[in-house]
Amino acid sequence: MKTNLKQLSAQELFMFMERIGQKKFRANQIVAWIYKKLATSFDDMTDLSRVFRDELKGIAVISNLTLLQRLVSKDGTQKYLFELEDGQTIESVLIPNNRGEGRFTLCISSQVGCAVGCKFCMTGRLGLKRNLKAYEIVDQVIAVKRLIAPKPVPCTPSSSRALKKEVPGKLEITNIVFMGMGEPFNNFQEVSQALSKLTDLMGFSRRSITVSTAGIVPGIQKLAVNKPLVNLAISLNATTDDVRNRIMPINKKYPLKELIRACRNFPLPPTRRITFEYVVLDGINDSADDARRLITLLAGIKSKVNLIPLNPLNTAGELRPPPESRVLAFQNILKKAGMIAVIRKSMGADISAACGQLKAAYKSG
Ligand code: SAH
Ligand code: SF4
Repeated sequence: MKTNLKQLSAQELFMFMERIGQKKFRANQIVAWIYKKLATSFDDMTDLSRVFRDELKGIAVISNLTLLQRLVSKDGTQKYLFELEDGQTIESVLIPNNRGEGRFTLCISSQVGCAVGCKFCMTGRLGLKRNLKAYEIVDQVIAVKRLIAPKPVPCTPSSSRALKKEVPGKLEITNIVFMGMGEPFNNFQEVSQALSKLTDLMGFSRRSITVSTAGIVPGIQKLAVNKPLVNLAISLNATTDDVRNRIMPINKKYPLKELIRACRNFPLPPTRRITFEYVVLDGINDSADDARRLITLLAGIKSKVNLIPLNPLNTAGELRPPPESRVLAFQNILKKAGMIAVIRKSMGADISAACGQLKAAYKSG
């Protein structure tokens, strides 16, 4: 069977080159072609000899995601539906940053579906189909980078300079968030390898990447050790174990007290904060008492709270977003206590690209 070069770490690629009798620097060239110049075939690699390219074609492949659908929201958000090699599908969402035109955050998936089963989340309703491989996680970034490139990605070594000069309004992915489909810490090893590739091979800084979790405590601890300096987001969504157990069954395994302790112990560089996501649900977690409990829970943690009014799921159910006035009142209580609390406007809701709406629905409708 042919080796998928994207499945190899940089070290493994060196060994692969050694095994086929090539110099090690060839591995560096191939890394640059795949991860910087976003090559999708050996024919793109014009500084490798034709003989070597033909040899590679015989023993190796470069995997790619297949784009099935691209939807563009009126607010500029784009949702991509990709097919994997086994026919499974995942979604990635490109969200315009409010800091500067042409700059985007890419929201990527770590699993096909999700086993955690949060009551307010469409992905949770799918259940888990399978974990993504590290290369499938990274491939979302590569595929979207290629798709937003202003013209076919340069395929000669000198043309990347030309590209910069010619296209002033270049689109750029400045941040990556693991907030698409799946629970990253239920696929820790592959997510960890993907993080290494994004930073070491693609050149993203650790501070530009955020991993979001529903609260898998051992994952939080491992992230701190294995991938320090990557940002952490916690989907908190409730201030009592009773309510959290009801809307996020994972809380029965890792209750609030343990989760908050892990957050307190998470090492943060001086200017960084942990983001706490709080999906606001009418009559469930939106009271003034909830706001006050949240202040107590997060006391002493360098935090930022994102209040996300529930995005509706197109399915009948008793969960609703609260009236805007209630979300504002909630935010005010937090702000008066000196907390950073932002109401997150839903991006891409008209194309079902907002938080919690991803379900890779191309085939199943
Ligand atoms: N599994 C991870 C990452 C993916 S979910 C996690 O749960 O953190 C990304 C975010 O979407 C989470 O903060 C989650 O609370 C939020 N979310 C899920 N469903 C939502 C919905 N229907 N409306 C608004 N936000 C939602
Ligand atoms: Fe899974 Fe996150 Fe959705 Fe919960 S909110 S079901 S953990 S994807």
